[in-house]
Amino acid sequence: MHEMSLAESVLQIIEDTARVQPFKHVRSVVLEIGVLSAVEPEAMIFCFDAVTRGSIAEGARLEIVEVPGSGWCMECGKIVNLAERYGLCPVCGDARVEITSGNEMRVRDMQVE
Ligand SMILES: [Zn+2]
Repeated sequence: MHEMSLAESVLQIIEDTARVQPFKHVRSVVLEIGVLSAVEPEAMIFCFDAVTRGSIAEGARLEIVEVPGSGWCMECGKIVNLAERYGLCPVCGDARVEITSGNEMRVRDMQVE
């Protein structure tokens, strides 16, 4: 389960931010997760709750926004939408599609007090 290490890196981002702009508590976090990153939103929320216990983000609400994936088809050379990691090219049906986005995770917004 890689959600645990991802949750730890989110907490790291929060703590780094707290060093630059001091705040006492995090109320909620909006996290963008690429649909191709194989992250289970429920598992992510569970892990986030676990790793933030005792930190400035304890009890913070984690909101997950899934961002679509895209890839470059080696066969027809087009940039196409990808709904799954090993999806076929929707234009020509080829399986050799290189993922160009949808793998990433990013903190989009944070409510602090
Ligand atoms: Zn194609």
